[in-house]
Amino acid sequence: MSETKADPSSSCFIPRAPFDDASADVILRSSDGADFHVHRLVLSLASPFFKDMFTLPQSNSESPVTLPAVQMSESSHVLDMALRFWYPGAEPIPRQTLDEFRDMSEALIMKYDMQFLVPFAKKHLREYLEEDPVAVFGIACRHEWREIALGSAKCCLRLPLRAFESAPPTQLKYMAADTYHILLHYHSECAKVAAASTSSLQWAPYQDIPGADCPNWTDPHICPRAGHWTFAHNTMAPITAWLAAYLRCLTDELLRCPSAPLDTPELLGLPISKMGSCSSCAVDGYASLMNFVAVLRQKIEGDLNAVELMLDF
Ligand SMILES: [Zn+2]
Repeated sequence: MSETKADPSSSCFIPRAPFDDASADVILRSSDGADFHVHRLVLSLASPFFKDMFTLPQSNSESPVTLPAVQMSESSHVLDMALRFWYPGAEPIPRQTLDEFRDMSEALIMKYDMQFLVPFAKKHLREYLEEDPVAVFGIACRHEWREIALGSAKCCLRLPLRAFESAPPTQLKYMAADTYHILLHYHSECAKVAAASTSSLQWAPYQDIPGADCPNWTDPHICPRAGHWTFAHNTMAPITAWLAAYLRCLTDELLRCPSAPLDTPELLGLPISKMGSCSSCAVDGYASLMNFVAVLRQKIEGDLNAVELMLDF
């Protein structure tokens, strides 16, 4: 970046108001040659970087008709977006892509040290949490925004991140390998914790178990069982085959996606069809399964909240 004399821009991009203001006293020239007319005082107040630059002795060769220009490394697109994010009187760009947000936040916060923008940038980044949590995690770690990193890592638990038959997240090229490793390790630990709640029911009181009160438990032809399981308080009791089938499928799913929904048609189809063979379970099996799913959801969420994300900031 250097300060030079302004000359006509070669860029196709023509900055709009307020970056064409006649009262401007400096030009920011983009890497592709677009000239943004701005005020030194505004830049100095916003950025220690520009404050230092403008307190340096200025050239005596400035003429009243030719503004000094600062050569920037950002493209006209990034510079326009970055300035519009905060410059007084500028209309912000309503919706950016995450790629654009990354470029913009790198420039404004990391390069030009505009720390006052951090709360706005965090609020903006949170809006992408549902849409692309992997990318949000990468950006949050780059800025060392711990709370957003944790929130996005939790959202990533809905994705099969460690299933290598699927395509890699598109944002990986912007993320350091050790940062992604932290996310994968967290995902793996959460998978173990979530699956532990469905592969064993030692945490659950037997009276809360679907099918526990089925009167046909002595007749495996009517209500098939899948062996004895251990429940809370070391209670051992038979479990219905339909509940065991549900738990088996769910365990596989939680190992892939630790925050997978527990009540998808794919998961519920098999137990519902199996419970129909028992006259008692056919009547109240579905309701008791739904009650159990609600309890299970709380149990898994509580256990996942206890898993630590090993951030180093
Ligand atoms: Zn039954």
